[in-house]
Amino acid sequence: METRNLIGYNYQPEQGNKFKAVDPALGIDLPGEFYAANIAEADAAMKLADKAFAVFRSIGNTKKAAFLRSIADEVIAIGAPLIERAMAESGLPEARLQGERGRTTNQLKMFADLLEEGSWVEAIIDTAIPDRQPLPRIDIRKMMVPLGPCVVFGASNFPMAFSVAGGDTAAALAAGCPVVVKAHPAHPGTSALVGEAIKKAAEKTGMPEGVFSILYDDGYAIGEALVKHPKTKIVTFTGSFKGGMALVKMARERDEPIPVFAEMGSTNPIILLPKALENRAEELAKLSASITGNAGQFCTQPGLLLAVKSDSLEKFKKALGIAIADVNSATMLTPGICANFNKLSGGMLADKAVSVIAKSDKVNTAQINQGVAVVTEITAAAFLADEKFKEEVFGPYSMLVVADDIAQLEQVIASLHGQLTVTVMAENEELPNYTSITDKLANLAGRVILNGPPTGVEVGNAIHHGGPFPSTSDSRFTSVGTSSIKRFVRPVCWQNWSDDLLPDELKTDNPLKIWRLFNNEWTK
Ligand code: NAP
Repeated sequence: METRNLIGYNYQPEQGNKFKAVDPALGIDLPGEFYAANIAEADAAMKLADKAFAVFRSIGNTKKAAFLRSIADEVIAIGAPLIERAMAESGLPEARLQGERGRTTNQLKMFADLLEEGSWVEAIIDTAIPDRQPLPRIDIRKMMVPLGPCVVFGASNFPMAFSVAGGDTAAALAAGCPVVVKAHPAHPGTSALVGEAIKKAAEKTGMPEGVFSILYDDGYAIGEALVKHPKTKIVTFTGSFKGGMALVKMARERDEPIPVFAEMGSTNPIILLPKALENRAEELAKLSASITGNAGQFCTQPGLLLAVKSDSLEKFKKALGIAIADVNSATMLTPGICANFNKLSGGMLADKAVSVIAKSDKVNTAQINQGVAVVTEITAAAFLADEKFKEEVFGPYSMLVVADDIAQLEQVIASLHGQLTVTVMAENEELPNYTSITDKLANLAGRVILNGPPTGVEVGNAIHHGGPFPSTSDSRFTSVGTSSIKRFVRPVCWQNWSDDLLPDELKTDNPLKIWRLFNNEWTK
């Protein structure tokens, strides 16, 4: 099987370099070869996306919703081969990938519902008041419109839900923005299956050609060409800080700078307050599951645990140590990610300020690229003295930072960089004593959690998955949930236009029956 780049409805001629997908558990090449795209193909995909935008931008919510639902159906119709290929390419277990497929299709349907409900365009209407004194008020009506063609970088750690038909693609298409996906080289076969599903759905639902394209590359050249292309208006990315910032810089240096929504990692600190530790040290040690699940390869994995020293903390450490020692090693997503994990966790372990609470010895020697769970400890003073301890170690690793007292714990929290999440484990009765900590958490992270693990992100309307830099490049936006559509739109107001010339969303009699702010009142 040879997979060629898909531009609109056409697979490109076989040309250029080929690469293969690798099974990270066994280190062997998987069946199939993938043609790396060339610059002419990147150019063609963006130009076709731009052409499609002229139609797709105003194709209407009903048709876009049908397209999104059809993608969900086509993804399901792939059946077992999708799960099997994703397992082979990612090393992730079957149950996780089945769940992820469900999340992917549910996201698509959630956006379809959002479109049919219609109020996502945020219509605001201020009608004219000709006799207002001292000056008349003119008729002004505002709503969101799509930005234009979008480049989506598939993420390695969610081969479906943050990849070809993942949240970024679903939100962009829902907004009316054509999508060109740069497939992640770690799972090109999974990407090709899903790409074909989107192609089928686009054809079946009569979408303009170019509404979706997918390009393969095992290097940086095509990603760069897509970000720099003049027709590209938005970029979305999930991955490393280095990769994300490289794209942000490229986008800023264009003749026309464009937004890059990059999610770049987070250590997701968990603050363990004294009473909670006293009452339920052993229960809190179950955080081991959040630290090590799927080899810790989640953007919300808790890489830092923060507490004040106490006897209860010792109990917690003991229970956590027992739990971590019992965790089986798991295959990491790519040899590169595993090597990076070993380098970074090894660097921490080699530092004399760091001691080991527990390291699992349950290593699967029959497979390679194994992520082996480890939890370490450091004093708050040592943590505060060196920035390197704040770095994300992507994988099944966490570090307990032990403060002498609450004042020092507060210093540690104040020193942290922006995060996707921050969690407080506390008893209700002690929370009023720690407002000096809890009051500051909204400044630190995009999601502030009480008594629950940060992993397991709910996909819904109220979720915010995004946080202050460096966890993301733009803390105002979420990459999960219906609000993520806001990354792909911009407001436009129409001034002094008559009803018949306005979009349906802004007509006075509200033909779509959507919620709008009409002369300061929410009405349907
Ligand atoms: P990555 O190295 O950041 O790569 C992600 C995607 O961006 C890939 O398609 C990559 O292309 C592309 N890319 C990276 N740098 C680029 C550049 N300078 N120019 C153009 N394209 C570029 O992420 P990864 O390979 O998935 O994993 C590496 C590390 O990223 C992990 O060890 C982890 O630290 C972090 N990570 C974080 C998250 C998170 O949720 N925050 C998720 C996954 C990974 P190529 O692969 O073709 O080079």
